Amino acid sequence: MSDSPKGFETLQIHAGASPDPATGARQTPIYQTTAYEFRDADHAAALFNLQEVGYIYSRLTNPTVAVLQERIATLEGGAGAVCCSSGHAAQIMALFPLMGPGKNVVVSTRLYGGTVTQMSQTIKRFGWSAKFVDFDDVDAIRAAVDDDTRAIFCESIANPGGYITDLDAVAEVADSVGLPLIVDNTTATPYLCNPIKHGATLVVHSTTKFLTGNGTVTGGCVVDSGKFDWSASDKFPSLSAPEPAYHGLKFHEALGPMAFTFHGIAVGLRDLGMTMNPQAAHYTLMGIETLSLRMDRHCENAMKVAKWLEADDRIDHVTYAGLESSPYNHRVAKICPRGASSLFTFAVKGGYDACVKLIDSLELFSHVANLGDTRSLIIHSASTTHRQLSEEQQRAAGAAPEVVRVSIGIENADDIIADLDQALTKATA
Ligand SMILES: *Cc1c(COP(=O)(O)O)cnc(C)c1O
Repeated sequence: MSDSPKGFETLQIHAGASPDPATGARQTPIYQTTAYEFRDADHAAALFNLQEVGYIYSRLTNPTVAVLQERIATLEGGAGAVCCSSGHAAQIMALFPLMGPGKNVVVSTRLYGGTVTQMSQTIKRFGWSAKFVDFDDVDAIRAAVDDDTRAIFCESIANPGGYITDLDAVAEVADSVGLPLIVDNTTATPYLCNPIKHGATLVVHSTTKFLTGNGTVTGGCVVDSGKFDWSASDKFPSLSAPEPAYHGLKFHEALGPMAFTFHGIAVGLRDLGMTMNPQAAHYTLMGIETLSLRMDRHCENAMKVAKWLEADDRIDHVTYAGLESSPYNHRVAKICPRGASSLFTFAVKGGYDACVKLIDSLELFSHVANLGDTRSLIIHSASTTHRQLSEEQQRAAGAAPEVVRVSIGIENADDIIADLDQALTKATA
């Protein structure tokens, strides 16, 4: 492609890909191979020393996965990206070079349920910890940062829906304390929000969701903006200090804006092994080709359904940020001007029991622990994804016992509404 700037709709199809040099295959082939033959012994040595970029072994790099990495990095406006086996793997891969025993990350209380568990429980096994803060209170974020803090973490449009983070305000705090801001952009996708433009250092994705878009494969991605100065302090030795496993290479000094990405491949994937397989990359590449079309439709349908629910007597309240009644509606224009995605919650009059009956009465909706599918999905977060949390944590995360979470699909909006209507009649009879 020529160097003239291209629109999102063009890049989602073309970025990172060109016809296969060996066969001319127009679609990116699935390079189903574990290893790549070295030209000779010198070539092998240069690759292992990171003096030359190339393929060695598919735990580290694979040509199909590499196309997806470049595609997502381009759509997010980043310098580089590393794909991995799931969204949760991406979060560990993002934190791994920054953290160490005794170090902490300041995180938003409004997060995907699995992330709350990962951050509050599992990372302790590495000697890491997380401090949970209400990210609407920037002074509280600043107050939570201490000498051992190594990152600030939040979601752009946060699970389980209806909340939009003021990324610019959070990035200003991160900047002022010299820490990287990591933003999980899964729910928004780069079509609706570009966290890097709002000051994020790293963007993580569960590619399992809207990016793949049809509920076929799990995957994750870490995009680096390439803008953070890892050498400005001694807080990030993995990136700024000599790496013994690479003859004393200093990643940041040697690789500049690609330091985090190379470290992710050469150390993160090499030693943690949370690699994306080429089949998964293929499905996700297929999905991304239609991302803009799907997200426009997801947002349009979500708005119609949210408005209908809000006007219905059987509903207590709806938390879709696209609604004027939402306290986060004013952030849509700034953070995600094309729409507030299609994930939100609503409370049914009749509480917990009515929620359970509603879910059991729906026919078109699928009752699953997933989001971002072409299909409309529903879940009662309090009894499933947020089950491991205390009721206080559930409420803080927007997953109170009386609410259900929906991910509105791209079906006909009238059919989605008709299904909710008949199920609500049964649930509130
Ligand atoms: C699903 C999800 C994750 C975890 O991703 P997996 O691919 O399931 O590991 C993380 N963050 C958000 C916002 C998610 O929706």
